[in-house]
Amino acid sequence: MAFAAGGTVALAAGKVHAHEATVATYPANDPRHPRDPGPHDPIREGLNPDIVDPPATDSGTLPNLRFSFSDAHVRKGSGGWTRQVTQRELGISTTIAGVDMRLDNGGIRELHWHKEGEWAYMLYGNARITALDTQGGWFMDDVGVGDLWYFPPGVPHSIQGLGPDGCEFLLAFDNGNFDEDSTFLLSDWFKHIPPEVLAKNFGVSANVFNTLPSPADEYIFAGKAPEGGDSAAVKGGVKSVLNFSHKMLAQKPITLPGGTVRITDTSNFPISKTVAAALVELEPGAMRELHWHPNNDEWQYYLEGEGRMGVFASSGQARTFDFRAGDVGYVPFAMGHYIENIGDKPLRFLELFKSDYYADISLNQWLASTPADLVRQHLHLDDKFMQALQFAKHPVVK
Ligand code: MN
Ligand code: MN
Repeated sequence: MAFAAGGTVALAAGKVHAHEATVATYPANDPRHPRDPGPHDPIREGLNPDIVDPPATDSGTLPNLRFSFSDAHVRKGSGGWTRQVTQRELGISTTIAGVDMRLDNGGIRELHWHKEGEWAYMLYGNARITALDTQGGWFMDDVGVGDLWYFPPGVPHSIQGLGPDGCEFLLAFDNGNFDEDSTFLLSDWFKHIPPEVLAKNFGVSANVFNTLPSPADEYIFAGKAPEGGDSAAVKGGVKSVLNFSHKMLAQKPITLPGGTVRITDTSNFPISKTVAAALVELEPGAMRELHWHPNNDEWQYYLEGEGRMGVFASSGQARTFDFRAGDVGYVPFAMGHYIENIGDKPLRFLELFKSDYYADISLNQWLASTPADLVRQHLHLDDKFMQALQFAKHPVVK
């Protein structure tokens, strides 16, 4: 879609977007600002004020850095549903693939494993997770809103929705090419082993296996919610000494003038060797300051609110995107960026990195930590600017 140079389009009617207040709108027939006469989708344009009418500082051809789960195919099962935003949907997202999954009360995500590490954040409700570690130790935990889990590559596991209303959670896999539809499923393997081999393996007769379900019936299927606490669920065996779950939201946040940050990486959740995370909450009008990350790409999931992110890609390239709950955002390795809360409610999002540690570089701190005369000669800014520079220990929101 093209707009005449210098032109400004009227944004979607209806709810006044915070950004809209700063965008001048002109009558459609104003000759100084001709509106593109072509077909328009006012609903989509209203959600994308910074794409329809980019800041004058945007430049170049940065690839798309946003995809909404609302535009992703939903795979339905008898016990819930799932949808995914992978490299197939968001081409730039090579490091991480995301899955949004809903399990009804009792609904079961079939026992399975995969080549990728799996990191998860509970968005709603309750679930029971199980796993087996590489020493033969079993793990089980009941998780609720704000809890995480991490299953290392190859570790088999299951997830089941609990009462009163099951659960919904975000899964993040440490490979953008991950496909939730091609995991190693228990029922699928059983279907592809000769019954006499199964009989030999389990020490039973082959006709025991006459009633195996079709793998198409499993994957996500309706089940019976477990009764009793998790301690009674497995008889015998050895309980794993590893902790595959973690209470991220219960962490004491780093509290800053514009909001809060919680960081979870191997320093406080040792098993999560391939995914490091930050949970950021910005008050209305607040901003995640100008920064970048020295370790890897950033994969974002927006939990709540409305935000705007500007990304600087070097070589004079910059692009601005708008985000809402359910969107995935992406920042390629080392690109500078900021995120503003442009709504009237808190903006909450997750920053994920394919890394064992969280790290960022603050532009403000870098300049504060550089001899003032050197900085002054670069930017030609006055003492007021130099005195405003701040040292920061943590990711800053202001
Ligand atoms: Mn899995
Ligand atoms: Mn960032």
